[in-house]
Amino acid sequence: MPGVHAEVRGITKRYGRTLALDSVDLVMQRGRITTLLGPSGCGKTTMLKIIAGIEKPDKGTVVFDGRDVTFLPPEKRNIGFVFQDLALFPHMSVFDNVAFGLRVRGYSKSEIRRRVRDILELVGLDPEVYGDRRVTQLSGGQQQRVAIARALVFEPSMLLLDEPFAHLDYKVKMRLLSELRRIQRETGATIVYVTHDQEEAMLVSHTIAIMRAGRVVQVGPPEEVYERPSSTFVASFFGEANIIPLEGGRRHVIVRPEYVRLGPPTNGGLKGVVVDVVFQGAFYRVEVQAPQASIVAIVPKNGVHPRPGDRVSIAWDEDKALVVEE
Ligand code: ADP
Repeated sequence: MPGVHAEVRGITKRYGRTLALDSVDLVMQRGRITTLLGPSGCGKTTMLKIIAGIEKPDKGTVVFDGRDVTFLPPEKRNIGFVFQDLALFPHMSVFDNVAFGLRVRGYSKSEIRRRVRDILELVGLDPEVYGDRRVTQLSGGQQQRVAIARALVFEPSMLLLDEPFAHLDYKVKMRLLSELRRIQRETGATIVYVTHDQEEAMLVSHTIAIMRAGRVVQVGPPEEVYERPSSTFVASFFGEANIIPLEGGRRHVIVRPEYVRLGPPTNGGLKGVVVDVVFQGAFYRVEVQAPQASIVAIVPKNGVHPRPGDRVSIAWDEDKALVVEE
């Protein structure tokens, strides 16, 4: 059933003098992955804890399925969560880690066995191979899978993940992110995902909420936030951006490197000198120093690419550039 699953309205939270959240509004669609993305300290974890019910806001409301749950404890919210510190039980087997919560709640032995096996398969851990292993005998990525299995074994309608893959190798992380999307499709769960890593956010999200200093500054699908950033902050935090000041200094042109075209210096328009050319496998990344700004261009491999010291003209299509005022 599509539609709004959860919503926060006017959430404000202070810790002493720190304003961690400043009147945040956000909608989380059912069966979608919504990511809170922003630099360290911008309030992402605090927001997630308030959605989970682990923290209470000073002001504002949290609504699940149209019902005010602001003061409902976490265990009554039908959520699962995984924090960066996985808090797995190191002396227990994989099976027992996942089964723990079910045993505490008095599920029958056969029901526990069925659920744990199903969920281990869902997260890509063969129960025959890994069920009896201690979690200390697993790789970091496998431990993450156990943590996700433990959160999902109650079949929560919402899964909250706080930087779950932060300390993993790049390739393991990429693999788990695509598996997370598969798990989301198979379970239909609503996921709220916290990260400071824009690449992770781009890979995993249906919707991204960009946060800065306790506020949500832009919300939208990754493509929209990338193509139409509302500020120089969003443009430079989410993807790489050329930000060129206009006269007066309050207005800036934002243009993504792949839209920049370099041409012979005899062409009209902006001019600059190539200062750096880096081969990046699929393309060249060329840095040009112009009087107004340093400008990065993505240059395809077919054809000639400029070399350091070359004088070039710099151009882009008007409809690929944005002007923001701040
Ligand atoms: P993020 O997850 O984006 O890194 P947090 O939500 O953890 O940010 O923190 C937001 C702000 O609130 C930071 O300035 C942080 O230092 C502060 N903060 C978070 N938790 C506490 C706490 N328990 N006590 C005091 N300050 C806190």
